[in-house]
Amino acid sequence: MVFAIIELLFIVFLAAMPGWFLGGELGACLAALVAVGAYALNFSWKVDRFDRWLSARTLRHDPPWQGLWLDMATRVVRLLRQQEKLAALHEGRLVDFLSAIQASPNGVILLDEEARIDWCNSTAASHLGLDAVKDRMQHIVHLVRDPVFARYFAQSVHGSEVVIEGRSSSMVNTQKLSVHLHAYGEGRMLLLTRDITAMAQADAMRRDFVANVSHEIRTPLTVLSGFIETLQSLPLDTQQTQNYLQHMSVQSDRMQSLVADLLTLSQLEGSQPPGLHEKVSLTWLMSQVVMDSTALSEGMANKLGGAAHHLVLEPVPDVQLLGSRSELMSAVSNLVTNAVRYTPLGGLIELTWTHKPEGWVFAVKDSGPGIAAEHLPRLTERFYRVDRSRSRETGGTGLGLAIAKHVMQRHGGELRIESELGRGSTFQLTFPHTRVLPEQA
Ligand code: ADP
Repeated sequence: MVFAIIELLFIVFLAAMPGWFLGGELGACLAALVAVGAYALNFSWKVDRFDRWLSARTLRHDPPWQGLWLDMATRVVRLLRQQEKLAALHEGRLVDFLSAIQASPNGVILLDEEARIDWCNSTAASHLGLDAVKDRMQHIVHLVRDPVFARYFAQSVHGSEVVIEGRSSSMVNTQKLSVHLHAYGEGRMLLLTRDITAMAQADAMRRDFVANVSHEIRTPLTVLSGFIETLQSLPLDTQQTQNYLQHMSVQSDRMQSLVADLLTLSQLEGSQPPGLHEKVSLTWLMSQVVMDSTALSEGMANKLGGAAHHLVLEPVPDVQLLGSRSELMSAVSNLVTNAVRYTPLGGLIELTWTHKPEGWVFAVKDSGPGIAAEHLPRLTERFYRVDRSRSRETGGTGLGLAIAKHVMQRHGGELRIESELGRGSTFQLTFPHTRVLPEQA
């Protein structure tokens, strides 16, 4: 600027000198005025050129002039390039930030001051059935129609989250979403959504489980306290007392089995799957299981009067199972004792070990009543019984198959059930080859 003023003064001086010689003071003033006018015209022409040069976005090329204007142009270009770099940096950060939110397993929606959707990630879109592009600038309450959400949205304070039904709900499965509004910026809001279906299901299962356990324990307890009251209040002879004590012992055994099975289940759930270091001889395992089941069958025959079952054990392969001895014993024994308990006395029960491409398969085939197809998928649920009274009569806890299934999962194998009403049942345990070793090894 100073340079421009000096330049102007210099030009005025140059013009005024000849003016003064030619026309005295008036000539000098006129010449100076002409010089100032010419300078102003030239200046405005240069400003116009400069402005056009800036607007034409020719910043990448050097400016077509010299001196002061070149300096100014260079400075402007430098400044603009710095701004461009900064803008690119910010844009890159914004893209990174948005892709991180996009990858979030939770839904994120940015709402403007009017509660219209400014931006939403794909998770939120699928949770609430939105179209991330088409629904932009739509009012959130017009799109999320759940009355629980409408009430929540209308509140002035959104302290805690609320649970609404998600868009993926069907007749069979309900999707549960937790939604939470947070205020931010100036009147803007952040809407977070989280799929809590699995958590809600686990919660419901836990509640059912506690209710079932309480019910299972309460039944024998009620019977026991009834007997105790009778023993305390009635004058009974020795025989009658013995009878009552016998009934009480059955109920207490029942509670003990239930608690033992519950402990087994909790241990299965709370521990690491068994490694490959413990070896269990199949010959030993089967001899134990057959001994226990024969004793059970003979006990039933004595009690009910009749012939024990025909328990047939096909030749046992000379191999060892790798896994937890107690768990394997529990799985195999549950299947065999179930066959004894549910097959009428005198029935046939066959136990076989077969080598198949998928692994070693243990099968328990019985000539019992069989199970109707609709029950098969639910048999391994805790406390699920086809015939509740038959299960109780024979000392069942309703947890045997759940335990067997769990044990097999922990050993990388599986439990399969085939049965037809009136045609007996076959329960199979498949062990992967990695869990079986030849005996000599
Ligand atoms: P429970 O202690 O009641 O036997 P399980 O989990 O072992 O519990 O078995 C679940 C249900 O499966 C039983 O109540 C019974 O109805 C049915 N079940 C199991 N094994 C047999 C079988 N071999 N034959 C017929 N029904 C069976």
